[in-house]
Amino acid sequence: MPAFEHLLSPLLVGSLALPNRIVMGAMHTRLESLDRPHERLAAFYAARARGETGLLLSGGHAPVPEGAMDEAAPVLDREEQVAAHRAIVDAVAQAGGRIALQILHAGRYARVPGCVAPSAGRARINSFEPRVLTLDEVRSTIRSHAHTAALAKKAGYVGVEVMGSEGYLINEFTSGVTNRREDEYGGSLEARLRFPLEIVRAVRAAVGPGFLLIYRISAIDLMPGGMTPEETATLARGIEAAGADLINTGIGWHESLVPTIAAAVPRAAWIDAVRHVKQSVAIPVMASNRINTPEVAEAILQSGAADLVSMARPLLADPDFARKLRLQRSDEINTCIACNQACLDAIFSERAASCLVNPRAGREIDFSDSRAARTLKLAVVGGGPAGMAFAVNAAERGHRVTLFEAQTQLGGQLEMARRIPGKSEFNETLRYHRTMLQRLGVEVHLGRRVDAEELAAGGFDEVVLATGAVPRRPEIPGITHPKVLGYEDVLARGAAVGQRVAIIGAGGIGFDVALFLLGDALDSTEVERFRRTWGVDAALQGAGGLAPAASRTPWREVHLLQRKPGTPGKTLGRTTGWILKALLRQAQLQMPAGVRYEAIDDEGLHLVDADGQRQCLAVDHVIVCAGQVEDRALHDALVARGMSVHLIGGAERAAELDAVRAIDQAARLAERIGG
Ligand code: NAP
Ligand code: SF4
Repeated sequence: MPAFEHLLSPLLVGSLALPNRIVMGAMHTRLESLDRPHERLAAFYAARARGETGLLLSGGHAPVPEGAMDEAAPVLDREEQVAAHRAIVDAVAQAGGRIALQILHAGRYARVPGCVAPSAGRARINSFEPRVLTLDEVRSTIRSHAHTAALAKKAGYVGVEVMGSEGYLINEFTSGVTNRREDEYGGSLEARLRFPLEIVRAVRAAVGPGFLLIYRISAIDLMPGGMTPEETATLARGIEAAGADLINTGIGWHESLVPTIAAAVPRAAWIDAVRHVKQSVAIPVMASNRINTPEVAEAILQSGAADLVSMARPLLADPDFARKLRLQRSDEINTCIACNQACLDAIFSERAASCLVNPRAGREIDFSDSRAARTLKLAVVGGGPAGMAFAVNAAERGHRVTLFEAQTQLGGQLEMARRIPGKSEFNETLRYHRTMLQRLGVEVHLGRRVDAEELAAGGFDEVVLATGAVPRRPEIPGITHPKVLGYEDVLARGAAVGQRVAIIGAGGIGFDVALFLLGDALDSTEVERFRRTWGVDAALQGAGGLAPAASRTPWREVHLLQRKPGTPGKTLGRTTGWILKALLRQAQLQMPAGVRYEAIDDEGLHLVDADGQRQCLAVDHVIVCAGQVEDRALHDALVARGMSVHLIGGAERAAELDAVRAIDQAARLAERIGG
């Protein structure tokens, strides 16, 4: 019996034959905002088609300009736009794949002036006030969905997905919270469901039979007063009767206060809500959200909770996910770690998406993926994210690579990060790199701190220094006191930490250390704890799927300090920082800003607070998380010997060091080196 037999089994959906159950979910990439947008989009989707993804869904296309996510987001409402879509569809078809277009009307989430909604009221996450749709406009919006579907068919797409989840326009009609209309589209459940059902009927009428029609339903709203499971089941049955071939599931609204896709959410956390939809209809149902490994996906299908799995970010991370499965090389999958750093955080900062673990994502045309013109003998010093990524990418281009790591294991900063609650997905990044280094024949020397002399004697054509950064030690009187620890003492060396703690520095690492220290009380990596922490109704009974969150008694007193004024945490990820801060607030973390450190002694940490008052925090330990400085000890010595040296990652620039930049630099250097 082949491994992953459910995932790899074909399925007939409507009249479309899919070779496997792996679907790339729709994702807004903002690639339209880069140069050569159509070429980029075509290359992006073609790569995922070549990777044998069963079905691709495009990013959301608005049926009318006022429904676009933002002013750069795509709209498909005119005949003359069809030709550009053909290029994408053809590229996918030539790569052996099939693509459907998602129709998304963003409603009151549209970050455009003149955005619209069923009823008055601005969304918490949007600064634009929506205009209420008139009855005529409701009807014309239904027709515009059908028109876009017809244009999609003309462009050669195999189907369309109608986006009815995540809090966009259709959700705003289905929920009594946002729909207070008094005409035939508001009031009773039947009236609130009229809008989506008429859209599905209109789309079916416009495209005829035999064209794939997917509806993405909100399996659980995670909004106070949101739809109940019975109402969701009624909607699902209505959608089926209206002519949909497949129901995809979405989780939560974007403005919900429960995380739905970040790494803090356990894998497959929402499967009960998906199963509930599946049990309501006879047509196939697709699961989504926090499904990132083939094991998790296979278990979902095997359990009967869904018929297909939708993975968007995991296919950014590895376009060859499905192909590697078929070839029984699943250990070579570069797994999405649900960090959101290079994808959603980028999109919400109005940049184009890529991927932390795969910088080629969305940048396919910038990489040739060819063998190097000259095969070089390369030394890589440092086995953190930058060093490992460079070694893998360079070896893939045919170079002979030797990697030296001073520690006895690979990983660098990742080795510490993986211990933070909610960051265990970094284990997958380590597994991927270890596997690839071995398969590609990279010579790895662990526990070897090489010097310039050794490197010079090694006959290397070029040396890549990825030695990372060393923690900054601030000049505070008493900094050498035994109660002072570095973050690496705590995270990497397992130093015992007392009950009362002060953390110097509220950057990404300071927050991570705070979570690590409060983690026993907060551990949210397992579904039951996650539900209790965030107030998700385990029985899926209540409106919106919510229940009161559990209260907690923190077992440590932690102070996270920063010198600059203002709210700490400004540098955290756009889409994940709020989760971290909410968890830490639950644990009663103290976060004083604007402090001045005076001294550390037996009594604790002496400081002057933002009001100019002197005080002493009577703590057992002071943990220093004050950023890093570059570790370039080797660089100058190698240059003095006339060697060709490249600096990447933290060794190149420690400030704002992050894995996105480190891995991107590594991949781009590997693309250039040796021609
Ligand atoms: P960081 O983000 O630069 O933060 C360093 C902190 O130390 C700052 O809050 C700074 O605040 C303080 N500091 C700097 N010099 C100091 C000094 N001489 N004395 C006392 N305090 C000092 O660095 P990091 O926390 O080490 O993180 C490194 C990188 O990893 C960052 O780019 C970060 O974004 C990334 N990272 C992100 C996450 C995440 O988003 N969850 C997690 C881990 C790491 P004041 O100067 O105001 O005191
Ligand atoms: Fe996944 Fe992070 Fe890549 Fe986004 S940036 S696709 S969350 S690994």
